[in-house]
Amino acid sequence: MKDSILVINCGSSSLKFAILANAGQNTLVEGIADRLGSSESTITFKHGGQKLEIPLPDGSHKSAVTQIKEWLNNNPTIENTLIGLGHRVVHGGETFTESALINDTVIEGIRDCAKFAPLHNPAHVKGIEVAFELFPGLPQIAVFDTAFHQTLAQEQYLYPIPMSLYRDHHFRKYGFHGTSYRYISQHLGKITKTSDQQGVLVAHLGNGASVCAIDKGQSSDTSMGITPLEGLMMGTRSGSLDPSLLSFISQAENISSDEALSILNSKSGLLGVSEISNDCRTLEEAMVSGDQRAKLALDMFAARTAKHLASVATTLESIDHLVFTGGIGENSSYLRQVICQHLKALNIKIDTTLNSSAPRGEMSNISDQSGHVNIWIIPTNEELMIALDTISLIQH
Ligand code: ADP
Repeated sequence: MKDSILVINCGSSSLKFAILANAGQNTLVEGIADRLGSSESTITFKHGGQKLEIPLPDGSHKSAVTQIKEWLNNNPTIENTLIGLGHRVVHGGETFTESALINDTVIEGIRDCAKFAPLHNPAHVKGIEVAFELFPGLPQIAVFDTAFHQTLAQEQYLYPIPMSLYRDHHFRKYGFHGTSYRYISQHLGKITKTSDQQGVLVAHLGNGASVCAIDKGQSSDTSMGITPLEGLMMGTRSGSLDPSLLSFISQAENISSDEALSILNSKSGLLGVSEISNDCRTLEEAMVSGDQRAKLALDMFAARTAKHLASVATTLESIDHLVFTGGIGENSSYLRQVICQHLKALNIKIDTTLNSSAPRGEMSNISDQSGHVNIWIIPTNEELMIALDTISLIQH
């Protein structure tokens, strides 16, 4: 059947892709081009239980998409089912409040937002332009990480800085992980029926991590800001702190403010505190073997996640559901438990047995009956969301 979508997530040094068929329900092939920009770059295809790895000698985004096209040429039964392409785009600024059919104006809009996402948006434009060359007849759709949060009220998205900075430069909170939050909100709506009329807190905890409050199906506050640095402590990002630290660090270490910012983006968070790793699984293993630095990093991560959940909850009329998602949210029973311990005052009570025995990769309810809040683990599926948006815009 001719109903499949090629989903492309083009990052600065990687390109993830998947072809989803049957309204996004079946993954026909998926893979990743890694270490783009270097001579060690490779692209991997996973299809029918087999893994195929091909070197990409020039390490460019173009050769990655070209390899996908060549793989499809060799697998015409899959290529013939393609009806469109969906691209994940990190920053849509205030221009994009929903997914968009890509034309020259949309490409220009994505370029305009590159000032806030200098590593990501230019890579997305590259991916889109190459895809137009190689798949000339197919419509392409852009799905924005920021779009879901365009429903925030002004008092939530404005920074308390001179208004001229917002008027002249659009400096404001945008928020990210919006495609994941939209998926969780819709999925929860299918399970509970009433959640689209209720207050939902979601913790998307991965290497990048944020929280979101969803009021009657709409994002009402989120922890990330003008960039994904604000909010929670993350794998390598500090999250929110006193902005004066930026100039203190650059003076004390005799480095530029950009270099100081790069410490906050790539040497902080779980990695900076533990001095071991940015990876939650590695830190949990170290903690179990008695490493106190790993435990401190994980406990700080939990405390700060809880603090931000409580903070975004101020935009809800009631807290009816709390959802954990993302690599850490879906898999770390330790962090889920410590985060919930911090939220007892909000009547959020986790069932420790259900939490520790929750099956991997599946949805489950882990709330204690005596609490007032339903606590869920829901595996996110951003690719599905992108495929569904693509189908819906193509059929429009
Ligand atoms: P991102 O998409 O932001 O790169 P992911 O959502 O893939 O990140 O999450 C990656 C994180 O999930 C890593 O810190 C990893 O250690 C953590 N993780 C994955 N599986 C487990 C597990 N079984 N236990 C604890 N943490 C896990």
